[in-house]
Amino acid sequence: MAWRLAKSLIVLRSEVDAAAPGRSTASDGTIGDDDHQGTASDHNPNGAGVVCAIDFTHDPDSGADMHRFAEHIKQDNSIAVKYVIWNRRIWSKARDGEGWRAYGGSNPHTRHMHVSAGVGPDGQSTGPYDITSPWGIEETFGGGDLIGLKLGDSGERVKGLQGTLRYAGYDPGEVDGNYGSKTSAAVLKMRKAQGSDVADGDNFTGWAYAQLMRAMAKKY
Ligand SMILES: [Zn+2]
Repeated sequence: MAWRLAKSLIVLRSEVDAAAPGRSTASDGTIGDDDHQGTASDHNPNGAGVVCAIDFTHDPDSGADMHRFAEHIKQDNSIAVKYVIWNRRIWSKARDGEGWRAYGGSNPHTRHMHVSAGVGPDGQSTGPYDITSPWGIEETFGGGDLIGLKLGDSGERVKGLQGTLRYAGYDPGEVDGNYGSKTSAAVLKMRKAQGSDVADGDNFTGWAYAQLMRAMAKKY
């Protein structure tokens, strides 16, 4: 049977790709495999031949951090979204007031995040699944935006911060994409050198970014 992916999910996928270039797609999925076909699943085409579910591989080193993306999609609560399953929990638009709920399906969804679009029963989505408004993933997590990073974060944006700290003369240790104690110490040293009296380097705020740009300007 001919099928196509819901347009809202094509937009979502392009945003995830942009936010995490080179991400692993090992556990990605759209159309249901044989296991799905006998079950009610949004991975099976609806009556109009549209697949209203997509899976994204958790690959935090590349920036595809499903802990953050799942939380963002819940907060954003876009018109198109039906529900999100990630890490043994489910959030659905229809039961938004209950927040994250325990998910007891046979697949715990710890390797990939599942997103369904539209409204109605699994495999029979109707409604706004073809809406193409942005999901905010690219805007929030994409590009070279370093502002808002914090201790414990990982991915390409942290690598960007570490590389920039190094260029500015503040060694963050290995440029490994992990915002750990060495990166925090380098941020603190850089900020103090610009006259800041912050107590630690655990948060990379907008003002910290301004100070890093100042440090770069001084050095070069
Ligand atoms: Zn799925």
